[in-house]
Amino acid sequence: MPIDRYFPRNHQVIGKHRHSDGQHYHFVWGPGRLADAAENKDVIAAYAARNEELVPIGVHGTMVAVDWDCCIADGSCIDVCPVKLYQWYRTDNDVPAVDMANATSNGVGSTNKEDRVDYTDKSEPIREQDCIYCMACVAVCPTQSIKVEQSNTEFHEQASQTFT
Ligand code: SF4
Ligand code: SF4
Repeated sequence: MPIDRYFPRNHQVIGKHRHSDGQHYHFVWGPGRLADAAENKDVIAAYAARNEELVPIGVHGTMVAVDWDCCIADGSCIDVCPVKLYQWYRTDNDVPAVDMANATSNGVGSTNKEDRVDYTDKSEPIREQDCIYCMACVAVCPTQSIKVEQSNTEFHEQASQTFT
């Protein structure tokens, strides 16, 4: 089940994920739904090993959006991005994914494909504003979890004015 290409219209902003530099942030759209990750044996096993519940998470990012309910943590997008926009979120904040909606990250997480903590990890568009719109990440994602759309800047700016 690919990311909903119309997520900014069909979802609501449920969080503002900040970078500790005080300038950068991306929005999180929800409520999300159980999708590919909930059907993947590696992801299911990793959640079980942590004794964490596998629950809907939502979409991280707006112009560069990753559906965390679809992401199966294979790391292809992290590997291919020429500007190192993504990081493994657990290598910066090792907490349940649902707690990341309003978290602050330092942006020091790993940008190496092989460094996922385990299969509960997710690709986080921590440097969303650095995208050069090459679409390489979209092409390689095995679950079509990523939507890159520069015109979604409109929704990002709306949320910047209205989300508290
Ligand atoms: S479109 Fe290109 S620059 Fe933007 S996040 Fe994807 S791989 Fe990186
Ligand atoms: S390529 Fe897709 S499935 Fe793989 S880590 Fe990136 S978003 Fe997740």
